[in-house]
Amino acid sequence: MTWKGRKAAALAVFTAGAALAASAFIAWYPPPFTFSLLYPPSNPHVLDGRFSALVCNGVQCRLCPYECYLPEGVRGRCRVRLNYAGKIKTLVYGQAAAVHLDPIEKKPVYHMYPGSLIYSLAAPGCNLSCKACQNWEISQLYPEQAAARTPVPVALEIKVSPDRRVTGQLRTEDASQLSPEEVVKYALATRSKAVAYTYSEPVVFYEYMYDTAALARRAGLKNVMVSSGYINPGPLDELLPLMDVVKIDLKGFSEKFYHDYTGARLEPVKRALQELKKKGALFEVVNLVIPGLNDSAADLDALSGWVRENLGENTPLFFSRFTSNYLLSEVPQTPVETLTRARNIALKKGLKFVYVGNVPGHAGENTYCPKCGRVLVRRYGYAVLEDRLTPTGGRCPWDGTRIPGIW
Ligand code: SF4
Repeated sequence: MTWKGRKAAALAVFTAGAALAASAFIAWYPPPFTFSLLYPPSNPHVLDGRFSALVCNGVQCRLCPYECYLPEGVRGRCRVRLNYAGKIKTLVYGQAAAVHLDPIEKKPVYHMYPGSLIYSLAAPGCNLSCKACQNWEISQLYPEQAAARTPVPVALEIKVSPDRRVTGQLRTEDASQLSPEEVVKYALATRSKAVAYTYSEPVVFYEYMYDTAALARRAGLKNVMVSSGYINPGPLDELLPLMDVVKIDLKGFSEKFYHDYTGARLEPVKRALQELKKKGALFEVVNLVIPGLNDSAADLDALSGWVRENLGENTPLFFSRFTSNYLLSEVPQTPVETLTRARNIALKKGLKFVYVGNVPGHAGENTYCPKCGRVLVRRYGYAVLEDRLTPTGGRCPWDGTRIPGIW
């Protein structure tokens, strides 16, 4: 090696050593001002996050399969978890980005309290980056970008007029934050049967969801998590005792689709679904069918077959209609025939409860008895027109077949 080469190598080794020493020093003695202007201790949304490990001059978040390595002051892919002074912090505790009172059919959850209201809550952030995201205005945000205040439903008054017409009046108030206690209080005041953690990705506001779900459970409310299922087994197992129904968005059925259109991997989602099955949780699966991207007969066949084999014939499976959106604004709406074809494939595989979503009036909106074939719950869009299951506690009134769910 020439003298010049030796000098360059020595410089490179010195620079790398100095960088390592500096990062070790910062990790050991974090500067007290790091992020403190943005997130002073008085910021109500900053709390210690869970599921992390100290690794080589930083912290590794172990909440979801990305397992982000975070040096001091750095955030994860989800934008809402940060290494702050050597600890994982959640930046969105109590930061409600969207709060609505929804029909439960909108989640969509079909095997719990048909026609009921569900108090639906989201904080900013998501660990996926789906090109077809329907809620990208809240999911793809940094917490600082969310609106300072959001309308929060606080009460629902029901009035019956002399001619017996029933009307409801929803009262809302703008709020900058919403504690778990307030979520439960307002859920009860709006006659909700359950609280849903939804719209964005509840996995990344895990601590907020967990505390709220514990209080909701004590108040007699049910809990529903609507998620893409990108979560590690440990956090999922700890959460499950608090969840009554879990809705998982299985976005496609190839690693290529997951890689190209969500930024995530399929395998961890399959693992989470199998964990739900193993733990005996009630769950439903939804697949957004996007023309030309995940709607091939091979994909639909593989997805349905896997659900049947691994999750069981009683798993409710939805095929939902895609409408041009976000980064896929050029992709047309899913034809109804594609959704009907998808449903037929899944029925042929032996699944008993296969639904079509976002097509009001489609026969695939109804719940049928798998034995006698009669309609048990008749729906139109988010409305329930007829419900034969609630009065019987979930049994077909004609032949007594038990339908899985909470009725
Ligand atoms: S939750 Fe966020 S910070 Fe944690 S591993 Fe997942 S993307 Fe990374």
